[in-house]
Amino acid sequence: MMILTKKMIEIRSILQRVGQSSTLTLPSIVVIGSQSSGKSSVLEAIVGHEFLPKGSNMVTRRPIELTLVNTPSSKEEYGEFPDLGLRRISDFTSIQRTLTELNMAVSDAECVSDDPIHLTVYSPNVPDLSLIDLPGYIQVVGANQPLQLKQKITELCDKYIQAPNVILAISAADVDLANSTALRASRRVDPRGERTIGVITKMDLVDPIRGASILNDQQYPLRLGYVGVVSRAPQSQGLFKMGPTNLLSAIAKQENAFFSSHPLEYGNDAGVNVGTTTLRKKLMHVLEQTMSSSLQSTSDAIRQELEEANYEFKVQYNDRPLSAESYLAESLDGFKHSFKQFAEEFGRPQMHELLKNELDQKVLDLLAARYWNKPIGDLTVAKPGLDSLADLPKAEPDSLYWHRQLDASTSALTKLGVGRLATTAVASSIQGHIDSLITNSTFSTHPFARQAIMEAASTILNERFYSTSDQVENCIKPYKFEIDIDDGEWTRGREHVGGVLKKELQDCESALKHLENTVGGRRKLREVMTFVDKARKGDIIVEGDPGSGAGGFSAALLGRGREAVFLRDRADIIKMRLLAVKSKQCANPKNKYYCPEVFLDAAATKLASTAVLFLNVELLSEFYYNFPRELDLRLGRHLSEEEIEKFAKEDSKIRRHLEVIRRKELLELVLGKMESLRQLEGLERDRQAAD
Ligand code: GDP
Repeated sequence: MMILTKKMIEIRSILQRVGQSSTLTLPSIVVIGSQSSGKSSVLEAIVGHEFLPKGSNMVTRRPIELTLVNTPSSKEEYGEFPDLGLRRISDFTSIQRTLTELNMAVSDAECVSDDPIHLTVYSPNVPDLSLIDLPGYIQVVGANQPLQLKQKITELCDKYIQAPNVILAISAADVDLANSTALRASRRVDPRGERTIGVITKMDLVDPIRGASILNDQQYPLRLGYVGVVSRAPQSQGLFKMGPTNLLSAIAKQENAFFSSHPLEYGNDAGVNVGTTTLRKKLMHVLEQTMSSSLQSTSDAIRQELEEANYEFKVQYNDRPLSAESYLAESLDGFKHSFKQFAEEFGRPQMHELLKNELDQKVLDLLAARYWNKPIGDLTVAKPGLDSLADLPKAEPDSLYWHRQLDASTSALTKLGVGRLATTAVASSIQGHIDSLITNSTFSTHPFARQAIMEAASTILNERFYSTSDQVENCIKPYKFEIDIDDGEWTRGREHVGGVLKKELQDCESALKHLENTVGGRRKLREVMTFVDKARKGDIIVEGDPGSGAGGFSAALLGRGREAVFLRDRADIIKMRLLAVKSKQCANPKNKYYCPEVFLDAAATKLASTAVLFLNVELLSEFYYNFPRELDLRLGRHLSEEEIEKFAKEDSKIRRHLEVIRRKELLELVLGKMESLRQLEGLERDRQAAD
């Protein structure tokens, strides 16, 4: 009834996926032995391949949980490392290399690790078995090995040789059994020798009479007995080229030749077990027995764990179903929905406002540079008369000077690169909005999704950037030659710029207030400002390095003083200009040279409106159309199952939720399989009884 072992091994593999928290175990065969006892040779003889790490250095540093799956209907042989996602490796040298690397990754300081490597081998030539290879016991610690190594290996092996596992204790025939570390370890946990199989290797190295007496050992009697083997691969035939069946048959041939040449000691009538084939059969039989007798207790344990998982699911997650796919799909839907809302709220008026604000700043800069350029007093260069009146337009409509000033300002405004400025402003505003949409969505806890979404946005925006910016620049081109402002535009500009100037005034005033606070009060600031003013007018001659202090003020304080004087002067000018803008003269567009603020504001509005028309077509509509599609591409169906799983698990709450569901599902699956196994076993028993 080998089907039982196969099924149980399958169940064992499923249980391994249940996760770390699970304490469920199904019996396995644990292989222990001293270094060089021939442990690897025995395992490789069972598998029919050379695949274990070799070398003089201690190479097995992690347990290798080896699952052998017999595949009678397939010729293919291959190994898999499920934890690493490495599938179908048919080159066993490559398996050997991977195992060596995994082992060598354990640092010398750590010596050994109890984190097992899972390896499954599928082959028509292997029996269904579950084996665990452990680091070999060492007698003496090597010069460059840590002192606690011996102890650590013993502890690791002790952990694995507990019931219900079967112990495969390997000892070499040429070493006295009384000195076998493997048998001594087995004794400690299985004193009556009920679940230990003794394997005596290197039978060829001892005299047959002595060999037979070892196999009949009475000093360490084992219920499951001893098997003698000669499992070293025959060297002469060129081991590396040898195929699996070759290795198997070569070993069998070699063993046959050896044992049959001593029929008296090892023949059928001698009452001893010899040969790797015998050992394989024994292992299968013993594992099946052990698995079978643990059916009941394992079922019970699984049922209990399932109950716990069910309870957790109910209490913590309200029995709410969830899958990584559904979570992603819902999150994406939610996000798209909020994007749609944003798209409805962010259109031409919003873009216009955004652009106008940008241009308002540029207009203020231009005004400051061309009209409000009262020199800021500098202590070193201050000369009487230099702080002339602010360069403000007088009510002289025909003054060529003021004509030139306004023409130059208008030209600077239209030529400042409106296309680029507008496109950048809108693109970065969209990006900022997308970023806050993410922050307010379930994606906020998912760095992977956040990145994917931001990349989706910037890909579209970048693609459109240059053409949009060129288009906008092109369409405002006429304004570079002439700007006509009608009465309505003038009135609106006058009203708007009044607000801008007021805001600028407030900013100046609050900056002044802030300076007051930083220097320690209004009086102190006044004192410095007075000093700065005087120095500027030339009332005080300040000599020496302007970086150092003067007049009893530190350099830093003087710096603040100069800043404050600048702000005060600016505020004064803005106040005057506010009055001018409000004056009757500025109500009439004819007086545009007297009211550059109004004219430039109206011009900026024209630029913004024209730019917005094109931005809407070239950038915004394109973005609104493409963005949801780009999202689908990056976060939609084309993601692999692993990627979706990884995404969902970025959120620790979702991860726990998914894990509980997965655990529940796996346990239910296992329990179902266990139940049918037990029925099968019952039928088999009935059948045997009827026979
Ligand atoms: P491990 O360190 O316990 O894994 O031992 P190995 O399987 O690497 O074997 C140690 C040495 O013993 C190697 O040189 C093997 O070729 C040799 N060896 C293993 N089994 C036998 C055997 O049955 N007979 C002989 N003569 N040598 C063997």
